[in-house]
Amino acid sequence: MNQTHDPALTSWIESANLPDTDFPIQNLPFGVFSRKGDSERRVGVAIGDQIVDIGEALSANLWSGNARDVARSCDRPTLNELMRAPRKSLSEFRARLSELLAGTPGDDSEINPLPPGALVPMAEADMFTAAEIGDYTDFYASIYHATNVGKLFRPDSPLLPNYKHVPIGYHGRASSIVISGTEVTRPKGQTMPPGATVPKFGPTEMLDYEAEVGFFVGQGNEQGAAVPIDEAEDHIFGICLVNDWSARDIQSWEYQPLGPFLSKNFATTISPWVVTWEALEPFRVPAFFRPRSDPQPLPYLFSEKDKNEGGIDLNVEVYIRSMMMREGRLRPSRLSSASLADMYWTAAQMLTHHTSGGCNLQPGDLFASGTVSGPDPASQGCLLELTRRGAEPIVLPTGEERKFLHDGDEIILRAYFQREGAARIGLGECAGLIVASPRR
Ligand code: CA
Repeated sequence: MNQTHDPALTSWIESANLPDTDFPIQNLPFGVFSRKGDSERRVGVAIGDQIVDIGEALSANLWSGNARDVARSCDRPTLNELMRAPRKSLSEFRARLSELLAGTPGDDSEINPLPPGALVPMAEADMFTAAEIGDYTDFYASIYHATNVGKLFRPDSPLLPNYKHVPIGYHGRASSIVISGTEVTRPKGQTMPPGATVPKFGPTEMLDYEAEVGFFVGQGNEQGAAVPIDEAEDHIFGICLVNDWSARDIQSWEYQPLGPFLSKNFATTISPWVVTWEALEPFRVPAFFRPRSDPQPLPYLFSEKDKNEGGIDLNVEVYIRSMMMREGRLRPSRLSSASLADMYWTAAQMLTHHTSGGCNLQPGDLFASGTVSGPDPASQGCLLELTRRGAEPIVLPTGEERKFLHDGDEIILRAYFQREGAARIGLGECAGLIVASPRR
């Protein structure tokens, strides 16, 4: 850890010092925005309720050396170029930006070093997906999620025999990844209703969310050159929230023998701000504790370092707001709260496994953790688990029942890091509202 993580650090930007902000000076996540009414996309850094337009700040001659190279790579409409930057350069940029934004609000001797126009209020900006995402992969790293889902179909042996040996994943769809706030149209698809003898085609009746964490690939690897586990984290730029919308009835009919297809490719929502690997340093924890009865990972998936600090203690929360709740001006209601530290596989293990056969990852690629669920029922990150596939509906504050999502329901994911001796930092929100299928 370094000076940029110091919990005592404050910013001359007042809103960055509020206790519940996701974006204090210790965070400094990157995102892509445009000023409202202007179509030009820019790379920015979130601080309090403001965005620093890094490209605009270039004019003020504030950067030198490697930090200047990083700042230059921000003068673009996506983060892809920035994501290629060496870890050391990103770190120098972060240190310099932290220095420029540090100060005491109201202290008249403090001078805003940024050129006019480099600070944009979030309220006056639109956000976009942070990178041009070439490829998207979804893992299945929560043993609790895998067990709970497995139980619904195989009560006697919920976990498949490969689970504790190999990080399970599938190649997802990058083209339908959308930014938080985008409406999600209820997909249509082919299903085989219970008791039916022929399948039917129509709007899904089992629309679900999955609360996940996404990892953006930074520096890529050459095709054929696997990334060793102890170098895996050097290839991760940062994290965001992911909602892997899922149509369970379509999924259960189509998934054998090749896995999910149309049940998950109609939309995947991500949050706009990418929290860098360096920013989450204070929140590293040991990897999932494997009891002696569990197999140890094969050597290519094991390192002492990863075992001791490969985990990430991020709290992931899911909220729902139905149409009736919105009309009654009720706050979103919390459905679950889980920790990324409870995942069976670490980010490094997922990345290493992904490349182990020679697959090349590229800057801006995204891989997601799989549904983040913990050991207790209040930590289950999708409705499939919470309602036992609809058998035990949940009740909202309005008295409405939900087995799966209705049109007009909004799902909001939030996530934050919090621990003694560190500043609380957050990921912001990942929200999506369900709208009805078109009639034809
Ligand atoms: Ca998933």
